[in-house]
Amino acid sequence: MLVKVTSLCHTYDGRTPVLNDISFELNSGCALAVTGPSGCGKSTLMNCLALLTRPISGRIMLDGVDVTTLSESKRARMRLYEIGLIRQDLALLPHRSALENVIVPLLLKGGMPRREMLDRGHESLIAVGLEKHIDSQIGRLSGGQRQRVAIARAIVSRPMLILADEPTAQLDADNAQRITDLLLQLTAGQSALVFATHDVSLLASFEQRLQLR
Ligand code: ADP
Repeated sequence: MLVKVTSLCHTYDGRTPVLNDISFELNSGCALAVTGPSGCGKSTLMNCLALLTRPISGRIMLDGVDVTTLSESKRARMRLYEIGLIRQDLALLPHRSALENVIVPLLLKGGMPRREMLDRGHESLIAVGLEKHIDSQIGRLSGGQRQRVAIARAIVSRPMLILADEPTAQLDADNAQRITDLLLQLTAGQSALVFATHDVSLLASFEQRLQLR
């Protein structure tokens, strides 16, 4: 099992439960949609899975490793190597090109020759259908194209877990379905996908669903 979450609980103020006893399992090649209304805890769950928030109790196993008890430095390393995060706000560098944005995780990791980094960046941008925009500045791309750059950046280091937090929130219905299909296609191989959305029309695309309240 690639991802195994057991009895996960979280609260920010020590009183109000935000995540209450969440459990699920996800195999590689599989995708899980996390749904529920705004404020139900989707981002909190995503942040726990992204190792940005340490849950107050429960366990997250990634490829057999209990990441809830790892040291901060080991969690940071795991995040860099094994997790591709697509944040709601995308967090792209607006004055840089698509390619420069996409290779950021490889630059942070270090140790890869620049030529190989650029090749991997190209490969990721081609995989998301942006071959014509490799050198385009982010500020000149459409919302859907920016979303694709963020996806290319999330897959460039071939992580085992891809986390997409409301990746279609800013898109029209057609583009939302296209981006969802793209993410599902890209994760069908060796990684797993957790996709948070409040858009119920996208749920039919997912075999596994988790409804938060
Ligand atoms: P969703 O992503 O489903 O909209 P969130 O996980 O962002 O839900 O939020 C769940 C609840 O936790 C909300 O009541 C929100 O106000 C609260 N919350 C989220 N992040 C924090 C934080 N950093 N500090 C305190 N409360 C937070």
